[in-house]
Amino acid sequence: MLTVTFLGTSAARPTVERNVSGLALHREGETMLFECGEGTQRQMMRYGVSFALSEIFFTHFHADHFLGVIGLIRTLGLQGRPEPLLLYGPKGAKKVLGEAMKLGVERVPFPVEITEVKPGEAIGKRDGYEIVPFTTEHGGGSVGYALREFERRGRFDVEKAKAAGIPEGPMWGKIAKGEAPGPEGVVGPPRPGRLVVFTGDTRPSATTIDAAKGADLLIHEATFGEEEKDRAKETGHSTAKEAAQVALAAGVQKLVLNHVSARYSMSADELVREAKDVFPNVSVARDGQEIDVPFRD
Ligand SMILES: [Zn+2]
Ligand SMILES: [Zn+2]
Repeated sequence: MLTVTFLGTSAARPTVERNVSGLALHREGETMLFECGEGTQRQMMRYGVSFALSEIFFTHFHADHFLGVIGLIRTLGLQGRPEPLLLYGPKGAKKVLGEAMKLGVERVPFPVEITEVKPGEAIGKRDGYEIVPFTTEHGGGSVGYALREFERRGRFDVEKAKAAGIPEGPMWGKIAKGEAPGPEGVVGPPRPGRLVVFTGDTRPSATTIDAAKGADLLIHEATFGEEEKDRAKETGHSTAKEAAQVALAAGVQKLVLNHVSARYSMSADELVREAKDVFPNVSVARDGQEIDVPFRD
């Protein structure tokens, strides 16, 4: 299972319909948080996202992306959490998050580790997948994150195993798991894992295209529509059309627009229309929405 839950899809400030940035990613029973804007903990409660998480990833330190971590930490402390919490962000994370950890509490009653990530370097040791930050263009060291699963073993072909005279039994399992050699073709070619890419705030960029090559899901910011394309450029954001151009260039399966300006809070149809001219499989995220990312085979 690989699912994302959008907790906040508004740019810069919350609206009645949309909270500021927050995204939960669930994989094989594990929950991770990307961004934690003001009010994220309440969005987690509303949309049934577990507080039993151990990692939060930040793309940059504009207020709408991290202020919520102060309240969330407080709540986790009240719940008597003993486990450490790991926070990741680009350069500057130690200073900003370090200060945030001190606000409003005597001391945080569980360990918090803050790590500054480097683009291109996988974060932590994980089983079956990796999370790799990549450079984005939002003025000053911002990053996006790519979650990439490793290749899975090929399928075990029962008919071919029988035809090769391997008797049904423990040997099948061993061959399927690669613990014993099997005749050619009994185990199919390795199957690709899934790739989910989350940009955070950014101009359209070659580094995103690179990171998102062939992605199953690209979550790209689309703060503005075409009529404000100059403003997008000035403020380090993307238009919906520009996000679509990135999706097209990267050859992704699915594009979801995120981080929309308050003017699109009620209806973002215009953004979807503009993006669709360039890239057909596109939608705009809304708060509380869950998106499954299935294996392609
Ligand atoms: Zn933002
Ligand atoms: Zn920003």
